[in-house]
Amino acid sequence: MALALPRDGRFAPSQTGPLHLGNLRTALAAWLFARSSGGRFLVRIEDLDQAAARPEHEASHLADLEALGLDWDGEVVRQSSLRQRHDRAIDTLVAAGLTYPCFCTRKEVAEAAAAPHDDGPDGRYPGTCRHLSEGDQQAWLALGRRPALRLRAEGARESFTDRLYGWFEGPVDDFVLRRNDGTPAYNLAVVVDDAAQGIDEVVRGDDLLATTPRQVHLARLLGLAVPSYAHVPLVVGPDGERLAKRHGAVTLADRVAAGQTVDQVRSQLASSLGLCRADEPVSMATLTERFDPAVVPRARWVLHAP
Ligand code: GLU
Repeated sequence: MALALPRDGRFAPSQTGPLHLGNLRTALAAWLFARSSGGRFLVRIEDLDQAAARPEHEASHLADLEALGLDWDGEVVRQSSLRQRHDRAIDTLVAAGLTYPCFCTRKEVAEAAAAPHDDGPDGRYPGTCRHLSEGDQQAWLALGRRPALRLRAEGARESFTDRLYGWFEGPVDDFVLRRNDGTPAYNLAVVVDDAAQGIDEVVRGDDLLATTPRQVHLARLLGLAVPSYAHVPLVVGPDGERLAKRHGAVTLADRVAAGQTVDQVRSQLASSLGLCRADEPVSMATLTERFDPAVVPRARWVLHAP
């Protein structure tokens, strides 16, 4: 019988607000995938978007993970401290002739992408700046527009077998590698950092499923190992909309303020992953033993008021 190897995983929250129970459920799933295989579990704070990042949330993110029993290995890493390796990866792609400057504004991209697409990710780029001449580029620069840097994807498609979703295939557009404010873009940074941190299995919300072909493509171009993926179905409120503040008690602190204990919230999250009854007290050790990707529901989880 072949022995399964440990698979290192991670949780990579953005610092845009407090974690809600949907984020914590994804973190629990990521922790269980890693720990049940005997792998490491790392935490990486995704704070590259300085305009949106609110560092004051970091402490509550870590406190929530700790309270639920989601321990991690090593130091928590902040993505903003890893800029050099992002820049090196971008330099490699530039040197290989796989990039071009793009002068489009966000609004222009949104308008150009408004035509209905088959199966592409949000914000799929139609290639407006792909064939700009040197003169056109100089003209834009003279007008004061700062370019973003895009990948020449050459109409690629990529596929992978998701551990929860199954086989998935999608197009790769000419996505942004570096934003026009100089910041490495999410798709670039996540691929470079997961590889540098030795992540074997990326577990995250299924809102990122459609952008994953971009990441697979980029890893291949950079000669990096492509991790396996498990996209956890999103959590929605009773109205079927993506979980948000307006749904009421959506964070761990909200739930505790409403009278639930942390143990009860853990049971609720674990039950939504098919691992116990919602009112059954469970330790992390028991959950680790019971964890089985096959029982994780493939449908969205509806979170009701406590
Ligand atoms: N930082 C991203 C988010 O919070 C997740 C990135 C990832 O897991 O790849 O949505």
